[in-house]
Amino acid sequence: MSYSPYLLKGQKAIVTGASSGIGEAIARYLALSGAAVAINYHSEAEEAEKIVDDIRANNGEAFAIQADVSKEDQVKAMFQQTLQNFGTIDILVNNAGLQKDSPFVDMTLDQWNTVIGVNLTGQFLCAREAAKEFLRRGVQPQISSAAGKIICMSSVHQVIPWAGHVNYATSKGGIDMMMQSIAQELAPHKIRVNSIAPGAIKTPINKSAWDTPQDEAKLLQLIPAKRVGEVEDIAKAAVWLASDDSDYVNGTTLFVDGGMTLYPGFTNNG
Ligand code: NAD
Repeated sequence: MSYSPYLLKGQKAIVTGASSGIGEAIARYLALSGAAVAINYHSEAEEAEKIVDDIRANNGEAFAIQADVSKEDQVKAMFQQTLQNFGTIDILVNNAGLQKDSPFVDMTLDQWNTVIGVNLTGQFLCAREAAKEFLRRGVQPQISSAAGKIICMSSVHQVIPWAGHVNYATSKGGIDMMMQSIAQELAPHKIRVNSIAPGAIKTPINKSAWDTPQDEAKLLQLIPAKRVGEVEDIAKAAVWLASDDSDYVNGTTLFVDGGMTLYPGFTNNG
């Protein structure tokens, strides 16, 4: 990995769910780009500490912090601790998410509430705390032209319905409207809020979909680019959205999906 250590120089970031998968890659790329990073984790303390060690070994700044993003008190404590350590925050990457899949009629209220609680309410709680700090501090022109940046991890399932995953698709559809509404409200304060909608990316969350050559071949039927995405594909998009290079981008969703949302079923005349 090579990245400009000046792009995000002096900026402070929180990445939620950063002990694995996409969140881990984003944390590493933000650090490579010069940002100090709070590595939020839910239960994988060892993995989070390893990422911190790697970043520090590379002359970066990071620390690990445990919090369940669906719990208001824990989110508030995480932001307090981060502000104490870093002084302020410039970038929030709302990445933590999970799936609790079930046929619709068998879906329990607990499965529904857990997914909405982490994927949607968790993003609300973190975005609110970040926005408070952005508003308090305002723009520091020597650091960034924005008072703050929020990047919400959505999914192609914010637009593609997903049978057997109603709770998950609903949470991602909700993220889209939440993101746009926050962006509309906070744009006058020079706060930028955008989403990334990944397609199929190789991470623990969807291992069963690409684990064997047969599974991968089946998955590739849904991807015009004919490759499953890698976490770096998402991390690079996140760095761009966090940087001033995307200064005029606000309230939008960047689909990073190899064309999965291009109705691949119509490729050969439908
Ligand atoms: P992952 O399972 O590796 O990452 C999810 C992370 O969220 C894990 O580190 C997990 O510990 C953390 N997490 C779960 N519940 C939490 C909680 N209550 N509080 C704090 N952290 C919590 O999978 P991933 O693919 O890297 O997923 C990251 C994000 O990307 C998710 O929001 C997911 O919906 C989204 N996404 C992934 C794909 C894909 O193909 N992998 C596609 C579209 C969207």
